[in-house]
Amino acid sequence: MHSPNYMSLYQWIDGKKLSGDGRATSQVLNPFDGTVLAEMPHATAADLAEALKSSERAFKLWRLVPAWERSAIILKATDLIRERLERFALMLTLEVGKPLAEARMEMGLTIESMQWAGEEAKRIYGRTVASRLPHGRAIISREPIGPVAAFAPWNVPALLTGRKIAAALAAGCSMIIKPSEETPATCLLIAEAFADAGLPAGVLNVVLGDPAEISHTLISSPIIKKVSFTGPTPVGKQLAALAAQQVTPVTMELGGHAPVIVCDDAHIDTVVAFSVPNKYFNAGASCIAPTRFYVQDAVYDEFVAKFSAAAGDIKVGSGLDPETRMGPLANARRLSAMERLIADALAHGGKLTAGGKRIGNQGFLFEPTVLVDVPETAQIMNDEPFGPVAIISRFSQVEDAIEKANRLPFGLAAYAFTTSTARAALLSDTLESGMVGINTYYFGMPEAPFGGVKQSGYGSENGTEGIDAYLVTKFTNQA
Ligand code: NAD
Repeated sequence: MHSPNYMSLYQWIDGKKLSGDGRATSQVLNPFDGTVLAEMPHATAADLAEALKSSERAFKLWRLVPAWERSAIILKATDLIRERLERFALMLTLEVGKPLAEARMEMGLTIESMQWAGEEAKRIYGRTVASRLPHGRAIISREPIGPVAAFAPWNVPALLTGRKIAAALAAGCSMIIKPSEETPATCLLIAEAFADAGLPAGVLNVVLGDPAEISHTLISSPIIKKVSFTGPTPVGKQLAALAAQQVTPVTMELGGHAPVIVCDDAHIDTVVAFSVPNKYFNAGASCIAPTRFYVQDAVYDEFVAKFSAAAGDIKVGSGLDPETRMGPLANARRLSAMERLIADALAHGGKLTAGGKRIGNQGFLFEPTVLVDVPETAQIMNDEPFGPVAIISRFSQVEDAIEKANRLPFGLAAYAFTTSTARAALLSDTLESGMVGINTYYFGMPEAPFGGVKQSGYGSENGTEGIDAYLVTKFTNQA
């Protein structure tokens, strides 16, 4: 059973759709109104065993497929996704709640990322070094690492599954991927596009169900040679520890708590015009969402007034309504987290200058919120809100703002706005972050690596680094 606009859900294992047959199920909800979109079948132990065997078999074949052919299949699947974009966008809006325009934007990023990986399949290079022997050969080659287990979250489910799949397949790996139990549809549609593009059965398997059971089974298996995880830092720590038991390398893209330093030489209208849509994009549920705004004394009052007014003007509602600029939070956990974090900030002396509460009592709509005067002891200054809350604080000296920005154990994205080239260089050099945006929030280029430092994770997706993550190095010395 599924709602008319949504899709029926299944495990995609070895080229077969598996559902029913007594499998346990859980409900996928529409976060706008809380209605049930579909029943999602859970992978059984036998399903996971079959997915592992199939992935192992398929890897042996796929790694021998010439790079140009791998590339052609990935690019063909990408073309099919482009043709089917409206269907994908509708699924995203239904299961995540995001406005259709944002869903289309996510699909644009997914397509670009997959296209980049498909093209990069042809550019995996080794090298030779001078042999120590006459007529000898010393060859350094790059080989696919093996079957991959991948885990993706619910916030940008098409992009975060699509770019993992395309990069692994480009490198010659097979993959078993588990999308979030809350957002399985677009991952299945991506798998369908790959099947239609001629990807051999088993190269890509999609399993759904209980995250802990699936991750434990897959990561503990000696078949799996690489783990890629995007999601919460506490879960990333558990999975990294599990992978360490097999000495399996992992790519971890975890939480953030992005600082934004707004200097007094910046053009405040422009900064506000950039910042507000980026803060409330995807209802704030983005690991690179700007969260802690540090604004210099001279422009602080102006920034707070203009930012709060713009946040208050955002139209919140159904993602299917073209007037909507922000959809609901994606799940009930985010709703209770917002209520808890805001109450705690207020109890610590913080003040609201916009929003602060739930809208209505159906689904998970929440007001775009701005907090000021929040001390560092408040929970929200330390835990990633992952929701539509901006916290604005003031600073006098840029060096102090940098210290505050670097205070947390996270380091995924950091931003700064200044027209001074000297300040831009200082900020770029000293912000402890995998990605630094100076006068921009844009990191959506698949040709550049995306990843964090500190407890935001390690390894990168996108860029040549994103393909490298699925390769191992071999040195052959031929006498
Ligand atoms: P949560 O703790 O409820 O975790 C749910 C997510 O983690 C789901 O995607 C689930 O499938 C996965 N998960 C949980 N246990 C797992 C396990 N044992 N094995 C594999 N996967 C497992 O968190 P939440 O409420 O969904 O999200 C809140 C926090 O998650 C945010 O504060 C944010 O830091 C983080 N997050 C980060 C990203 C990102 O893009 N880096 C995306 C989503 C969530």
